Amino acid sequence: STVPNLGRVSNMTVVVRVRPPNKKEQEQNSRIVVKTIDDKMLIFDPKEEEQPFFYHGVKHRDFLKRGNKELKFVFDKVCGNISTNVEVYTHSTKSLVDTLMNGYNCSVFAYGATGAGKTYTMIGTEESPGITFLTMQDLFNRKNELSSEREFELMVTYVEIYNEVVKDLLCSNGSPLYLREDSKYGVIISGVKAHKISNPGELFSLLDQGNKRRTQHLTDANAESSRSHAVFQVYIHMTCKNTRESSTAKLSMIDLAGSERGSATGYVGPRFKEGANINRSLLALGNCINSLINGKNHIPYRDSKLTRLLKDSLGGNCHTVMIANVSPSSLSYEETYNTLKYAYRAKSI
Ligand code: ADP
Ligand code: MG
Repeated sequence: STVPNLGRVSNMTVVVRVRPPNKKEQEQNSRIVVKTIDDKMLIFDPKEEEQPFFYHGVKHRDFLKRGNKELKFVFDKVCGNISTNVEVYTHSTKSLVDTLMNGYNCSVFAYGATGAGKTYTMIGTEESPGITFLTMQDLFNRKNELSSEREFELMVTYVEIYNEVVKDLLCSNGSPLYLREDSKYGVIISGVKAHKISNPGELFSLLDQGNKRRTQHLTDANAESSRSHAVFQVYIHMTCKNTRESSTAKLSMIDLAGSERGSATGYVGPRFKEGANINRSLLALGNCINSLINGKNHIPYRDSKLTRLLKDSLGGNCHTVMIANVSPSSLSYEETYNTLKYAYRAKSI
């Protein structure tokens, strides 16, 4: 089976996922600022309807944050707060499996502020596995279906980019890794431990093990803050049994660092550099996406480690999925507004 050239250039899917309100948001009686209208449209900061009389006694509502911008946003898919990881998967990365089997690289980003649901979407829980696991499960199914025609080799790597330094999450020695270009595999991480996996079951413990190694720091903004980008990659090497032609497709799934601004998290001293670098990678990603949208010849991949690593997985025939995660609550008003704007800019790629 030869790999068909689909010749696609416009390959960005942008999905917004609104998580359910958490305990704190419910206890503080915050306002819901993201209203899902249908499966593609949401309203940010909707006008409030007349409250029934029994609402008048409610205390602690943050009326000061009542802006009522009533901004309509349209995305490829809006997943409301009752949607499951399976539903998000169906509308985001499921179609990437065929794209990969056709030999094209794909990348998936979970974008959003700390606490907005990025890791829940990517990794999930054992009861409700995230889209990384679900994608891999389908990938294995496709691989088995095609096994009479093709030989497959699947390898996975899992690294974090923290302060512009790449570290292996599946290996405990913690030394910095460097990127280089390889004629067969494209951009690769030199010295990274690549794991051959033969079934999706092996994956969960691997991801779990890796996540425990992620660099975590507490910030004022959120105790579960994560300042690193976690990059999970799958190399799929396929050889046609008849012709011996071979090709490699790469899937990159990235749990991005929190997109909240350094200034909002109360950084001092060394933490400030941390914030600046994280912004640099997110900024570089945004700039690359924007340059691709505008059909620029020069794409500034070299501006950060993240974009250098993804040079061969962003633009061209690659398919990209951006999942923008937001909280529904007015407690995250600014972060949500910024996330929706970032995601909206990416939509027209
Ligand atoms: P982030 O990785 O963006 O910082 P998390 O994925 O860790 O955010 O989510 C923050 C908290 O909210 C976690 O306790 C997580 O389990 C919970 N959570 C996030 N999204 C959902 C969801 N869709 N349904 C239920 N719980 C969620
Ligand atoms: Mg996280």
